[in-house]
Amino acid sequence: MKNFKCPECKSRVATGKATMNYRLADCRVIVKNVPALVCHSCGQEYIAPSIAKYVNELVNNIRENFKIFSRRLHLQQICPKEVAVTM
Ligand SMILES: [Zn+2]
Repeated sequence: MKNFKCPECKSRVATGKATMNYRLADCRVIVKNVPALVCHSCGQEYIAPSIAKYVNELVNNIRENFKIFSRRLHLQQICPKEVAVTM
């Protein structure tokens, strides 16, 4: 991702953190602190394919075994229908 420019506005991007949202059944899962490139100008976030794949797999694992992951990960229950994962 060297010399990557924002496709939206052609501005420079810097490394930063993004937040990804998922739905698991009727529960919302928020993944925080996902490493990303963030555009200085328009604020658009770009997540590398390998990282997006990792987060997708993580959320799929949580979906399959929510109880185990809620003990092992930093799963923070905000309300019965919303949990946050901090990477
Ligand atoms: Zn931009």
